[in-house]
Amino acid sequence: MTRRRSRPVAALLATLALLAGSVAQAQRYDGPLFDAHLHYNDEAWRAEHTLPDVLGRLQRSGVRAIIANSRPNDGTRTLAAAGEQTRAAGVTVVPFIRLYRNRADYTGWFADETIHAMVLRELAAGTPAGPYRGLGEFHLYDSANANGPVARQLMQLAQARDLAVLAHVDDQAIDLLMAHAPRARLIWAHTGIGGASVERVRALLQKYPMLMGELSYRPGLTDAGGGLSAEWKALLTDHADRFLVGSDTWINARWAGYEGLMADARRWLADLPAPAARRIAWDNAARLFGLPEPAARPAE
Ligand SMILES: [Zn+2]
Repeated sequence: MTRRRSRPVAALLATLALLAGSVAQAQRYDGPLFDAHLHYNDEAWRAEHTLPDVLGRLQRSGVRAIIANSRPNDGTRTLAAAGEQTRAAGVTVVPFIRLYRNRADYTGWFADETIHAMVLRELAAGTPAGPYRGLGEFHLYDSANANGPVARQLMQLAQARDLAVLAHVDDQAIDLLMAHAPRARLIWAHTGIGGASVERVRALLQKYPMLMGELSYRPGLTDAGGGLSAEWKALLTDHADRFLVGSDTWINARWAGYEGLMADARRWLADLPAPAARRIAWDNAARLFGLPEPAARPAE
């Protein structure tokens, strides 16, 4: 009697365990991540976020490559010079030139010839990890400044040298920047932090085949439960080859919560079909910079 009753119960429990397992699996993307929006600013490395600290966070998060930029560029050079440590952590560093020497440069760079000259010097010098691969992140709080002389020069420089550009701008500035350099590889930081509509984002992606969208801080991306909202799930599924994941460690609090940020990304990525999740998490950025498949993680 006991045996007869326990068999179906055991079978039911086994089925439930299996279901729970597959639900848990479906709620987390488990492949490699490429962090396409990372800053290693001076206040991070001067405080507790030393090189071993940040590499540990990347490694624990399954991040296998980063777009590295920093204010000033010293932090990027530190990462680029640490070949032995970054290799041991299984992380490839893709260096970008930040336009800012200090916070004052945020608001005037687009008309500051000394910043153009600094970019040319940095490009000529390169980094211990190889040549710089992009410019940015830069900000335009007023989209009209996309027509500033240095903004135009840098877009044209990026196009001529095949550099990617990471730009924190609104949708109007995307049109203005692309008018300067229609073949430039523009990465739209946050894909419109002011909340440009999904229809507008879709139209810009269709208009500019080289435009990519990075998704940190994007309003409306996720719902209260941390999953993808319906309209963003549709957009990311339709244009899975055009989006990137980023952390945006612009203040130390973002470093302190880094593993949580990447866990959040793994959660919403899991709402996409597996091939789309993989493209957004890794393949699209790897393709932009010609990175190979990440090797098996080095032994810890
Ligand atoms: Zn940023």
